[in-house]
Amino acid sequence: MKPTGFFLHPSAALHDPGWGHPDHQGRLRTLASTVGKDLLTLHGKVEQYEAGLALVDTILEVHSRDHVGSVREACERAGSGQVEVAPETFVSGASWDAILGSAGAALEAVEGVWDGRIRNAFVATRPAGHHASHARGLGFCVVNHVAVAARHLIRSGRAQRVAIVDWDIHHGNGTQEIFYTDPDVYYLSLHQSPLFPGTGSASEVGKGGGRGTTHNVPLPSGTGPRAYLDRFREALDRASQAFDPDFILISAGYDGLAEDPLGGFLLRPVTYHTLTQMVMEWAEGSCEGRVVACLEGGYAPRPTGDAVVATLRGLAGVEYP
Ligand SMILES: [Zn+2]
Repeated sequence: MKPTGFFLHPSAALHDPGWGHPDHQGRLRTLASTVGKDLLTLHGKVEQYEAGLALVDTILEVHSRDHVGSVREACERAGSGQVEVAPETFVSGASWDAILGSAGAALEAVEGVWDGRIRNAFVATRPAGHHASHARGLGFCVVNHVAVAARHLIRSGRAQRVAIVDWDIHHGNGTQEIFYTDPDVYYLSLHQSPLFPGTGSASEVGKGGGRGTTHNVPLPSGTGPRAYLDRFREALDRASQAFDPDFILISAGYDGLAEDPLGGFLLRPVTYHTLTQMVMEWAEGSCEGRVVACLEGGYAPRPTGDAVVATLRGLAGVEYP
């Protein structure tokens, strides 16, 4: 069996929105240390890979030249401080390499899976991406790594149809907007409602040729593992009947964990092991198991690290204790 890939660009940990910010620098370090300890026991089943920086031209397949240019300029201007590029969304001098490194890791992961070098992969992207739309950042997100990976798979002639499963507690308004009229990308999101950013009602289903390929499942605050898993199963059943993907990407946010300071769900790390298995079942039935998960939110660092381990173990076909 080929290994599961774990991708983490070293620059991703250096993005610095400030210690008072939910996405402070300690978050990814704690995650990397928790995963690092588990990788010792997963030797041969999960392998860590280095990735290069994404090309700006690949980012421009999703984002406007104005947006990318203004982010780059803000990173240069920030130096050792922070510049706010959208509400509560900051960049520092190190953020440009963090953004290109995270996108580069996502691109290498999907290529590695498509080309058969690795079985599937988890990419520890930071800053996150799913609130970033074509022309602007939002909600700690600047460049939408999952959208960049999906479009790259299609534009490079690898995949024809890509499904994105977003289990972050927030609705991925950016991903939805980017693919809203696109019949080749299916976007499924389960999220808390009401909650930031306020989009993602069940009546938002796509437009034009993309009608039916956007699928939103809003859920109330207080949703626990059993109800969440039931709704996730129903949503995947409906999605798999409507859409036959060549590749599945996961927007893997962990702010649905009970300990998360921003979200109101009550999920446990082990819940994400089951979610991963469910997505893998869909992938094994439709696209030879091709799955890549990219980190989105998750602001309780220790439980987030545990839940990433649960996801990695799910991807590798290993039990989660
Ligand atoms: Zn989130």
